[in-house]
Amino acid sequence: MWFTFVVSLESNYKTMKTKDIVNIAGYILEGWGNSSFTTDKIDEIAYENNMCVLIQNSRGFPIYSYDMMADNCLIHGSHSLELFAYRAEAITSDTGFYYAEIENPRFNNNTLLFVMVVGDRKNPDGYIYLNTSLEPVKSTAEIIQRQVLGISILMFILGLVIAYFLARLIETPIGRITRSAKKLGQGEYNISFDGRGYTETEALAETLNYAASEISKVDNLRRDLIANISHDLRTPLTMVKAYAEMIRDLSGDNPVKREEHVNIIIEESDRLATLVNDILDLSKLESGNTELNVTEFCITDVINDIMDRYTLFSEQKGYKFIVTAETPFMVKADQVKIQQVLYNLINNAINYTGPDKTVYITQIIKDKKTVRIDITDTGEGIDEELIPLIFDRYYRAEKSKREVIGTGLGLSIVKQVLRKHECRFGVRSEKGIGSTFWFEMTGKLGL
Ligand code: ADP
Repeated sequence: MWFTFVVSLESNYKTMKTKDIVNIAGYILEGWGNSSFTTDKIDEIAYENNMCVLIQNSRGFPIYSYDMMADNCLIHGSHSLELFAYRAEAITSDTGFYYAEIENPRFNNNTLLFVMVVGDRKNPDGYIYLNTSLEPVKSTAEIIQRQVLGISILMFILGLVIAYFLARLIETPIGRITRSAKKLGQGEYNISFDGRGYTETEALAETLNYAASEISKVDNLRRDLIANISHDLRTPLTMVKAYAEMIRDLSGDNPVKREEHVNIIIEESDRLATLVNDILDLSKLESGNTELNVTEFCITDVINDIMDRYTLFSEQKGYKFIVTAETPFMVKADQVKIQQVLYNLINNAINYTGPDKTVYITQIIKDKKTVRIDITDTGEGIDEELIPLIFDRYYRAEKSKREVIGTGLGLSIVKQVLRKHECRFGVRSEKGIGSTFWFEMTGKLGL
């Protein structure tokens, strides 16, 4: 407001005055020679517009005069001699009027002078002179500026009050969120964030609620993992201890028994080693510290080699492995890690397959560049809502009778390894029919 008033008051005033002067001249011209036209009207206009008016007849005698500036204007004052010069300008101009901004030497202010020839320029009926100040009357301008200052102060105070209440309104949900966040920080993961009041705070609260639920999930998984791992560690440890004690107390002298017990201790130690290795592998994979040791190898051979190792297992426990992997396919990958993926998937299939104890391992050449490996069991299948979870760290179905030791980390390792290789992978599962875990690798046909 300050800016508009201070900067544009004068220029606006000038524009308005110029328009006024033209209008008034037009008005006088219209009434010229009309008997009903009275000078009262001109008085009124001149007074309202702060304007000096002089009308002369054809011979230059004044027939009407209105002096607003008490002899100090360019028309009536001591400068009026120059009127002849201005009149001459109007007569010689094409338009019949002269129009100029002239400084009043008495007050040093800018004025607007307008001279107009009435009728034919060669034989004029008369002349109209108008003169008005182009600067707003000081007192008026000051009143306006003072008012503007008053309004500005009022607006400022009002703005402060409104801002205070708005800030308090916004602060309320943010304060609520902050308090909840503090509690979350202290480990209260089931806290709920309430951002009611503003779209933005609602969105923030929603995001934080999501974050809190994710943190809570991870926390639960961590707890589960510790429970699982300690359980899995305790079982072999108990066995190791029990058999070691047995050797010490009973079978130390009996070579046959002793050998049997020592073998159990070795087996249980292996289980422990597997578990510890899994945990280490996963933490290495997840921290991104593992470099892939990429070589070119035949995935078909790897599958068949692994399945050879399961032969004894299938003979002893009655499992049936149906392997379809004939056409040799070469891939470039970390062989040890891909073997681990296969082991983990096959072990899961053994653990979860149905009573027919059958597991299918199938290599499908999709096109000349891509091979897909399917590991299918005939088990219960996996609930659809669990499928996104099973690849999560530590996720593990509760009830599991296992033939092969599991830690709940197997599929997370599979995921990490396949992701590192940028392989596509996934699972299809149908309740009551079975599940197929698959992954794809790129490479080429042949040896
Ligand atoms: P683990 O088998 O040691 O529990 P995994 O990470 O290998 O851990 O598997 C996570 C979970 O995924 C398992 O506990 C099980 O619920 C589910 N799962 C994995 N493979 C299969 C499968 N072939 N059939 C049914 N469920 C499976």
